[in-house]
Amino acid sequence: MSSRGGSGGASGDGMVPLGVLLKRELSSDKIEKPDMLYGLANHSKKGEDFTFLKTECQRGAGEGATTFCVFAVFDGHNGSAAAIYAKENLLNNILCAIPSELNRDEWLAALPRALVAGFVKTDKDFQDKAQTSGTTVTFVIIDGLVVTVASVGDSRCILESADGSLYVLSADHRLDVNQEEVERVTSCGGEVGRLHVAGGAEIGPLRCWPGGLCLSRSIGDLDVGEFIIPIPHVKQVKLSSVGGRLIISSDGVWDALSFESALDCCRGLPPDAAANQIVKDAVKAKGLRDDTTCIVVDIFPPEKSSPPLAPPKKQGMGVFKNMFRKKSSESSSHHLEGDYIEPDIVEEIFEDGSSILAQRLDLEYPICNMFKLFVCAVCQIEIKPGEGISVHANSKSGRVRPWDGPLLCTSCQAKKEAMEGEKPSKALSRKQDASE
Ligand SMILES: [Zn+2]
Repeated sequence: MSSRGGSGGASGDGMVPLGVLLKRELSSDKIEKPDMLYGLANHSKKGEDFTFLKTECQRGAGEGATTFCVFAVFDGHNGSAAAIYAKENLLNNILCAIPSELNRDEWLAALPRALVAGFVKTDKDFQDKAQTSGTTVTFVIIDGLVVTVASVGDSRCILESADGSLYVLSADHRLDVNQEEVERVTSCGGEVGRLHVAGGAEIGPLRCWPGGLCLSRSIGDLDVGEFIIPIPHVKQVKLSSVGGRLIISSDGVWDALSFESALDCCRGLPPDAAANQIVKDAVKAKGLRDDTTCIVVDIFPPEKSSPPLAPPKKQGMGVFKNMFRKKSSESSSHHLEGDYIEPDIVEEIFEDGSSILAQRLDLEYPICNMFKLFVCAVCQIEIKPGEGISVHANSKSGRVRPWDGPLLCTSCQAKKEAMEGEKPSKALSRKQDASE
């Protein structure tokens, strides 16, 4: 642990900090290193879809080092600058928000908060460059059998587990389908409605005004209200030991194909042929109306000696699991001779899509103690004692003390207030300036 943060639970003299205990316990767990194959296909119309593929990313150093893979789709709008900027900077901004010296399980537990920080920092940095384009992001991190997906916008990621169950790992932030987000944008001062044409008729999807964007979350979009936020929906699952198939696609695919038909049209094909087939079918169904991009990732068990037990078909959402529960199924090879085999199903570890930054950055003890206190929880700059602003400041609970972490720097606090609609956004104030 490089430092202690948060407000509670510091250990007394002579006690071993909980983080160390967890490290000891978890480091004994066997880390599965499954095999993985991927394929990518793209049919471009506007040239605003971008992808990011990086395998063999290094986590940690020395003996405990492991590798992870990143696959991402960025679907830009109003130009491609935001998509390119996010592609080039997002991973680094996420990794900078993860404390060093974590073991693998702590690293996985720290990812959801680091993804939020990295998305917000990337959006803030890009907006500081005063460029007006925006982008969706579907960002997938695969570490062993654990898949973590962070998403803003309407590119989507789905998982088909080996038993044929379908899991949707991303959110859909289209105003047309997300009433909760319509209410959030409206309460922050945005206007949501359809385009008016001559004669008074309303056409097209629901859009947010000013700006006319049909998404409620994105990276970039300086000229749209700041209630169009970059805070991602994050979902983390652990695949069963028999693996599964991921499909990550821009809306060019999902406007033409249902989740089921995308999976069905490429069943049995290797990932590169599968990605090609999905793009081909999408274009065939609707014509080439949009950039159409697809990444297919197959995750296999590491050399499976015996055929997997067919688990019961299970659809959809599971329960929120304790991240630090020691999972005996991880060492299932030791139990194969026994009478009892644990059900081998996809485990849903974490899910949060809230738009409230304070909630997304505030983690339960013991995870909160992995993060440094005197560093801005979003942009990671150092804060002098007494200068940080609690992420809970102005919250309605009233229990906040100024030193309650996580803390934000002044600039990130201003960003937070703008996202929550507590001050006029840049777009609105610019409009007012223009009319004066
Ligand atoms: Zn900051």
